[in-house]
Amino acid sequence: MADYDVIVIGAGNGGLMAAARLAKKGVRVLVLERHNIPGGCATSFCRGRFEFEVALHQLSGLGTEAYQGPLWRMLSSVDVIDKLDFVTMNDLYRLQLSGSDLDITLRPDRNQLVSDLQQAFPHEKEAIQKYIDFSYAYFMEAVSAYYMQDPDAGPEKYPLYFKYALKSAQAVLDEYFTDPRLKFAISPYWSYIGLPPRLMSFHDLTSVIVGYCEFKPTHIKGGSQALSNAVADTILQHGGTIRYSDGVRKILVREGAVQGVITEKGEEITSRVVISNASKISTFVDMMDPEHVPAEVSREMRQTTIAQGAFTLYMGLDCPPETVDIRETTNFVFGIDDYDRSYQQMKNLEITRDDMLLMSCYNLIDPGFSPEGTSQVAVVTLKYGDTWLQVPPAQYVAKKYECADAILTRLAEFYPHLRDHIEEIEIATPITSMRYLGTQKGSIYAFDHLIKDSDLFIRNQTHIKGLHGVGGWFGMIGFQPTLTSGVVAAKTVIKELN
Ligand SMILES: Cc1cc2nc3c(=O)[nH]c(=O)nc-3n(C[C@H](O)[C@H](O)[C@H](O)COP(=O)(O)OP(=O)(O)OC[C@H]3O[C@@H](n4cnc5c(N)ncnc54)[C@H](O)[C@@H]3O)c2cc1C
Repeated sequence: MADYDVIVIGAGNGGLMAAARLAKKGVRVLVLERHNIPGGCATSFCRGRFEFEVALHQLSGLGTEAYQGPLWRMLSSVDVIDKLDFVTMNDLYRLQLSGSDLDITLRPDRNQLVSDLQQAFPHEKEAIQKYIDFSYAYFMEAVSAYYMQDPDAGPEKYPLYFKYALKSAQAVLDEYFTDPRLKFAISPYWSYIGLPPRLMSFHDLTSVIVGYCEFKPTHIKGGSQALSNAVADTILQHGGTIRYSDGVRKILVREGAVQGVITEKGEEITSRVVISNASKISTFVDMMDPEHVPAEVSREMRQTTIAQGAFTLYMGLDCPPETVDIRETTNFVFGIDDYDRSYQQMKNLEITRDDMLLMSCYNLIDPGFSPEGTSQVAVVTLKYGDTWLQVPPAQYVAKKYECADAILTRLAEFYPHLRDHIEEIEIATPITSMRYLGTQKGSIYAFDHLIKDSDLFIRNQTHIKGLHGVGGWFGMIGFQPTLTSGVVAAKTVIKELN
């Protein structure tokens, strides 16, 4: 008999969710996590009197008790919904553009979104209404055809889905609007996927916007670490085992089927099922002997490219957000109105006015998120890891502070007093993610989500019996998709075990 029914490599969102669902079904599950806490990206860390949220800016898909989204039901299924407190955000985002009068705040509600946009762009009033109606109609078709996997799906039943799913977001924006500023103001969420509207699918962009309008962007009190801890507790309560500081070095495969793993400490543990929440590259390149890597997987990976990592400033301020004029929870700050140039800038190390900046502050909706009278602010810009890998170690710290300084200078245009109130600051680069998550080039978005690599037509398959992949490297990125991937894997495994 194998040591465990299922071994899960990694306690990120995907791994934790899969393990919790399996443990609840009485499956003997072991989670092996290299880090000393659960969560992967969904964690926090402490500096001074602040506990900083690592990743979560806007949780999607939750909804409320009265209007439950898919994530609500998912979290209920692992008994964590009652253990957590959620706060609905009032804004989708505020977008500010340097040297212009463009300063717009959009609200997460279908009608409100239309009227916010119409107020700012009255000359495109009709087109705005049509675009949002169309986005909703498209999304409803996508839910049935793709997410619910309607077996009768076809172009006659779902004409919008079949016509638009793989069009670029830019093509659809161009079809509806003429004002470039409107197209700019409506699509900064491209940065949540990593590719500008020209390179990303309409499906991905519209799913973010409609998803947030329907189920609202949400904040978790206690941050994403509270979620990770709660899911980990469910695993333990149902007899599962989690070992921290215990990474996996090798996945054992014989004749196309999984046999177990060898840990970094050299222990061999047997199981007929392994779920990997590590990156796809780690799974098939680092942890597997080359003769076992399926040709389909090698072919698929050869066609993909590694996405951006994050350069993040975590700041604890000695004042409430209002003192430094932060008025919204989620703020996009742009120095230029050219998304293609902002995207190209992600390949350069230096911070310039071309970099997009995303600034979040939860204290506006959760005053208890940091000690009384203080606030916590995170500022993120995306950067491909290659450039950071070229920085000599001796210059790394100085470079980090130089880039952070340039970001603070950029922000000073809109938030002139922010710098004076910094009590704590920590900076993360793609190198930090490499260290804590073990991801290639410190990517937080896994592979570039180009239209050709869309998971609308590339299925998550490992082609090895008993091996399953969960998390951002095996599908879509983000909290909701990675948690969903855990649910899907657990369902498949239960069928297999039965
Ligand atoms: C700065 C930032 C901001 C973000 N903002 C948002 C947001 O606002 N909204 C949103 O929805 N998403 C956001 N995301 C994305 C989201 O956090 C991630 O997509 C998601 O958390 C990834 O989950 P995952 O299941 O892929 O696992 P990961 O978080 O990648 O975790 C994988 C785990 O596997 C472990 N591991 C790896 N290799 C091994 C091994 N060999 N042995 C054992 N363990 C191993 C790692 O230590 C890690 O704990 C953000 C991410 C970042 C970094």
